[in-house]
Amino acid sequence: MKYYLETTEKVLIQMNSSKNGLKDKEAKRRLEFQGKNKLEDTKKECLFKKIINSILDPMIIMLLITAVISAVISAARGEKFTDVFIILFVVVINTIMSLLQESKAEKAIDSLKEMTALKSKVIRDGKQVEVNSEDLVLGDIIVLEAGDLVPADARVIESHSMKVDEASLTGESVPVEKLMNILNLKSRKDIPLADRQNMVYSGSTVTFGRGMAVVVATGMNTEIGKIAKSLQDVEKKVTPLQRKMGELSKTLTKVVLGICLVVFVINIARNIPVDTNVLITTAMTAIALAVAAIPEGLPAVVTIILSIGVTQMSRRKALIRKLNAVETLGCTQVICSDKTGTLTKNKMTVEKEYSDDNELLAKAFALCSDSKMCVEDTHAVGEPTENGLVEYAHKLGLSKDVLDVKYPRIGEVPFDSNRKMMTVIVNEDGRIIQYTKGACEILLNKCTKIYKNGRIKKLTEKDKEEILRTNEEYASNALRVLSAGFRELDKIPNKVNESIEQDLVFIGLVGMMDPVRDEVKLAIEKCKRASIRPIMITGDQITTAIAIGKKLKIIKSDEEAILGQDLEEMSDEDLIEAVKKYSVYARVQPEHKTRIVKALKSLGYITAMTGDGVNDAPSIKASDVGIGMGITGTNVTKNVSDVVLADDNFATIVNAVEEGRRIYDNVKKVLQFQLATNMAEVLTIFASSILGITVLSPVHLLWVNMITDSAPGLSLGMEKAEGDIMRRKPRKADESIFAGGVRKAMFFQGSLMAIIVLTSFFVGQLIDTGHIGIFENSIGVTMAFVTMNFVEMFHAVSMRSQKQLLCKLKSRNWYLITSVIGTAIITFAVLYIPAFVTLFGFTTITITELVIAIALAFLIIPMIEVSKVIKNKIKKK
Ligand code: ATP
Repeated sequence: MKYYLETTEKVLIQMNSSKNGLKDKEAKRRLEFQGKNKLEDTKKECLFKKIINSILDPMIIMLLITAVISAVISAARGEKFTDVFIILFVVVINTIMSLLQESKAEKAIDSLKEMTALKSKVIRDGKQVEVNSEDLVLGDIIVLEAGDLVPADARVIESHSMKVDEASLTGESVPVEKLMNILNLKSRKDIPLADRQNMVYSGSTVTFGRGMAVVVATGMNTEIGKIAKSLQDVEKKVTPLQRKMGELSKTLTKVVLGICLVVFVINIARNIPVDTNVLITTAMTAIALAVAAIPEGLPAVVTIILSIGVTQMSRRKALIRKLNAVETLGCTQVICSDKTGTLTKNKMTVEKEYSDDNELLAKAFALCSDSKMCVEDTHAVGEPTENGLVEYAHKLGLSKDVLDVKYPRIGEVPFDSNRKMMTVIVNEDGRIIQYTKGACEILLNKCTKIYKNGRIKKLTEKDKEEILRTNEEYASNALRVLSAGFRELDKIPNKVNESIEQDLVFIGLVGMMDPVRDEVKLAIEKCKRASIRPIMITGDQITTAIAIGKKLKIIKSDEEAILGQDLEEMSDEDLIEAVKKYSVYARVQPEHKTRIVKALKSLGYITAMTGDGVNDAPSIKASDVGIGMGITGTNVTKNVSDVVLADDNFATIVNAVEEGRRIYDNVKKVLQFQLATNMAEVLTIFASSILGITVLSPVHLLWVNMITDSAPGLSLGMEKAEGDIMRRKPRKADESIFAGGVRKAMFFQGSLMAIIVLTSFFVGQLIDTGHIGIFENSIGVTMAFVTMNFVEMFHAVSMRSQKQLLCKLKSRNWYLITSVIGTAIITFAVLYIPAFVTLFGFTTITITELVIAIALAFLIIPMIEVSKVIKNKIKKK
């Protein structure tokens, strides 16, 4: 059916609906057989494919080949398949681990989607309610307002100057005005989508006005759904950190493979003439070394840490929409924030009034508002400014409900933040009256008369001066000022638009208190300590903005505030200079916000920008971290933002920055741990091949890599924030992941650990044989194995902070404690369960030997602590 060629009544009948909407039960029934209103996801990979993928990893293939060769040789010689079992075991564990990691990351991303699900306003059972856009069904009546994303294809049944941007479908960037009229076919051809003025389509956005429409297509049946079929393979975006880790892991793979080759050649050269036995052992050593020392898991670990970070941020009310944001938040240098609702509570109460007739003033405000008193009559629901006005009228005994019935609205020009005004036309007992409310200095400019002593008089300069003085006085008390005017019209204007906002009679003004949020003051202090600059950008007037800016210590003097208008006269170059100085911007239009962000960015600042209104989308997109408002934000801005604040609170942004810093810190800790332990393994094997002895056999190495490397490493990613995290400067966005001496530390710590392990081997030799030399010894091997396991665990513990001494850390990391204890237990099991002892070729060592091996490993902690002290001293100098 071509709904645009039918009357609204007919479409409603066709969809089995009415202006009162569907019954909730009926909607649920329809949802069941129509399915969700969403574009189908790309199909997830099945488990089998995932398993195959993880086995196809080059390292695993190498291991499997080794297993096969070693199986054939063992069979030919009639030996046990010990090595084969251990290798296969490693492969199985490795596959399970990587599947678990992947599903954990996937789950986090899924819940991320769920958290940020978009909502739509619909009429159900005659009442307006919010539902998840996914749950819309055919016949639902949707309510659309400026800033809403159109959630489904629908036929317009009501429009108040509603304009819709359909660029995503038609390429036309100028918003189209929507009407409810029936369209007629001019020729036999169909009307093109762009000309269907009485339809709204999923994927477009309402930019102005409001209206209602009845849903006629959902999900994949919508016009965008038809296009989306070809867009389903959305590429998986990787964050810079994930990319860096991927690259690093590739480089290291090459380096390690090179070392393995050298080890292989040395061992072969030493054993000429080579028999198969030597060849196999040497090859296995090289391969095991490769498997152990190549940090192929690093990218996955980073993804997990980022995803866990996302969940933790959501607990702190910051919903991450793009994984990138976690990293960028950590290097944020400037936070540009709206005032109303983000820095303040967005709860307005009229505190002061100035008018000759308060009742008329209250009546004008109430009629010219869309808020309504709640059923219990205790407070108003709707837009906060208007709530304050409706409550004000209510206190004076003027009920919004009664007024609306008595003086029905016959036309309106909706509020928009560029004009800063709103107008309604009502029928007052047969007279046609226009009421306009808005920003004081702007409305006053549209007034020619004033209501005084019960009469309409000419507005004199003296009146104007007094009004503006009062406005200033209210504003300097941090009050938001709103004024109202009216005029009588002889007929309903042909075009109800902003052109009627003129020749008004000034009624009066009110000052409204919107208290600052309690936690914001602290958050701003925290920002300053962390060398992050807070900037306030508001649509409110400059005096109010300065008063609040000073209260919050965003600025110290009036000179740090500027009007949006003044920015218009500045060139981009001048603006770049200006943004260095100004931290409060008042009476700002959304376009100014984009220019401010761009200027800050061209100074190299990583900039976060908040926004709520429909026109804020461009500035949010232009910023490094776009922040949408969860409560007051429009769907359009939420949809382009990287982070959505569930509580609209500035303090939440600062918390999210802190989390971002913590997560980056942790990634670095894990990296340092991983690289240093891999280094230790490489050096140990390298040294022993030069000496020509076996200190750790291939299976020992695989075991250490699988058990000891993984759990403690990952738990470092769960480390709590260090005490000074918000006292440091933001890191540079292009800072290398190796910054702060990671490379040096890797060589230093890796060498220390290798020396400790080799020492343990020789101590074992000495205990067993009474002297030290270049010969193999099974107590030495067993002790070296114990030391290698424990030195890695202790190393993880010292990596809890790269700068601070362990004794100074106040937090506890239970993940690390548990994983270290768990790993220790597994190590003891391998040492003392007879089956394992033979499997690994160990000798059962005495308790003294065990204690010596562990004590040697423990030495790594004081060694690293001393190095931290020295490093901090050098840095201070
Ligand atoms: P911020 O950008 O910090 O959120 P804001 O909420 O004050 O600031 P806008 O909502 O754009 O910014 O409001 C700008 C001005 O428009 C206000 O200072 C007020 O004078 C006027 N105004 C706000 N809401 C309305 C409304 N519903 N009707 C008429 N005028 C309004």
